[in-house]
Amino acid sequence: MNISTLAKLLGVSINELRDTGTKNNIYGFYGRNTRIPYKSAEMITKLVRPDKLAKLKNDDRIYLPAQVSVSELAETIAVPVSQVIRTLMLNGVIATMNEKLDYDTASLIAGELRIEVFPEDGEDFEAISSNEVEQLIKMVEYKDTNVSKNYVLRPPVVTVMGHVDHGKTTLLDTIRSTNIVAGEAGAITQHISSYQIEYKPEDNKEYNLPKGDKGYKVTFIDTPGHAAFTAMRARGSQLADMIILMVSAVEGPKPQTIEVIERAKITKTPVIVALNKVDLPDADIEKVKTAVSAYGLVPEDWGGDTPFIPISAKTGQNVNQILDTILTYAEIYELKGEIDCQGQAVVIESHLDKQLGVVTTALVVKDKIKVGDIVRSGMSVGKIRKLTTTDNQILKEAGVGMPVVILGISEAVPIGDPIICYTSVKQANNDANIEKLAKQASKKSSNIAKSAATSENTINIIIKADVAGSLEAIKESILKIPQDHAKVIIKREEVGAVNDGDIEYAQTTDSTILVFHTDVPSKQEQLLKNRKINYVQSDIIYELLEWVEEQILANIKHEIKEVEIGKAEILATFKSEKAHIQIFGGKCISGKLEVGKEFKAMRGTQDLGKLELIQMQKSKIEAKEVYDPQEFGMSIKGKNKVQVGDILVCFDEIMVK
Ligand code: GDP
Repeated sequence: MNISTLAKLLGVSINELRDTGTKNNIYGFYGRNTRIPYKSAEMITKLVRPDKLAKLKNDDRIYLPAQVSVSELAETIAVPVSQVIRTLMLNGVIATMNEKLDYDTASLIAGELRIEVFPEDGEDFEAISSNEVEQLIKMVEYKDTNVSKNYVLRPPVVTVMGHVDHGKTTLLDTIRSTNIVAGEAGAITQHISSYQIEYKPEDNKEYNLPKGDKGYKVTFIDTPGHAAFTAMRARGSQLADMIILMVSAVEGPKPQTIEVIERAKITKTPVIVALNKVDLPDADIEKVKTAVSAYGLVPEDWGGDTPFIPISAKTGQNVNQILDTILTYAEIYELKGEIDCQGQAVVIESHLDKQLGVVTTALVVKDKIKVGDIVRSGMSVGKIRKLTTTDNQILKEAGVGMPVVILGISEAVPIGDPIICYTSVKQANNDANIEKLAKQASKKSSNIAKSAATSENTINIIIKADVAGSLEAIKESILKIPQDHAKVIIKREEVGAVNDGDIEYAQTTDSTILVFHTDVPSKQEQLLKNRKINYVQSDIIYELLEWVEEQILANIKHEIKEVEIGKAEILATFKSEKAHIQIFGGKCISGKLEVGKEFKAMRGTQDLGKLELIQMQKSKIEAKEVYDPQEFGMSIKGKNKVQVGDILVCFDEIMVK
């Protein structure tokens, strides 16, 4: 419960509550917390306004006031400040920690972080409808430090998605007429990339769309097909205006097909279904169409609004129809990009090149970016040294909707992060400092959280990967592995080859280094061996995930469980000559007693402990097994003496996780 809500309910000031709370050591009142547990609210109400106790609701909802600062919002919803700032940025709002947000913006940001919030009691603002939410999203998107109301038509941004092997790469190849299928590790496209084509419709149809020398511009974002890359695919579909969903007309929809459909529904991205591989004899267009429509995409020719286009990505059959449909959609949607404002691009890919340094592929989303621009991404400020198309053609500048490769950004930037252009280095540095402060603040809080964690089994890892995309995909996949038996802590995650610093850090933090698609130089390899530091290197993401799973499984504590086989009642005991040897007669009352199994005696609920069977006899003849209701004689070894009436239990011991 919010302290301010409680103060209003009780008719006292927040300060009075804090003072009373602190004096009486009531949890939640010291420090600057804005939320307190219900129990604390109840305790303080008993002290300051016991008459209002009945009014106190055991309400665990999160309430926000009409105005809240970024840091207060972070604290209230228990999310690191840097994450709130980043979410704001991704929504086009550049805000510092102390900046005030109105309720609508704050609740939108909380919603983006999947946290439901409610307006505080007494505040005069109602819950907003989904229609209004959409409007607000649009408002927030265009709310910038450098607001402009000028827009230009921009090229459509399209992403090709679908189940692995359904033909994404082939389609992109055919469209681009180059071949990038060869030489992929594990035969999977590991990296997201992007390119722009200029397409001239065969029927010379005119569209009101941006045009180059050769035709209408269309930007493609290529997303990797592997399930482990869900995170990247999710981002791909948010940047894209439309999705081409590749479905093999032979195989029909598969798990990743369904995932794309679900994702598209959430992000409200239009889908064009390409029924691929129609050149193959066992392609069944109608069957696959029916199967796909079961997930809510209804074909246009059945009265729905999703185009289903039978194609062969391999032979090129009907591929032009896909491009024509993209242009038709782009025209209908009147896709626009903001101009006359701070230029902004969103990172699609970023990696460290030995010769070139950090190479960043990004999609321009606002105004334009130019060679020589001062740019900031997160905490790093740089200057654009070189700008090229993804086909390596030199550019001076690039406008909205254009994918570009940038040199000059000093650090590898996570996918989806904005790159913002500045006219002054001072302003860029200022904003970078704000990011830094926010990050430090969140680090502090996450350190506190970490030290409070009680999990004793931890697996510390350092991830090194070739590009930011894979790094993110590995991280997201690791975090998805159930960690009930051991907690995986990612101590460091970085793009680039393994270096001495990583090795030092692995040693001090007792971490294993996971190396994906990048080098362990021979000097470092030797160092790792000398220091006996574990590292796992692979170009296949699943091998790394498997290693993590194995480590988690290895942490499972095995418990020994008893499985009862049979029971007997002890009917008579006999004197024995030898110490610790006991002889008795009994009757099997359930199951069976078997030589070689475990035995113990029970007196009522008291466990008398294990007994070692020496011999079992049935009708005075040695027996291996005795069944209910047979009688038997037995000699056993055991410290505790059994007596008439005790129950003998025969059981197996099994290991359970
Ligand atoms: P991705 O995993 O979705 O990128 O799939 P690929 O583009 O790598 O294609 C997987 C396999 O299907 C490759 O062997 C392609 O040659 C083949 N393929 C893709 N499209 C077609 C098509 O239209 N017809 C036929 N016959 N094979 C295709």
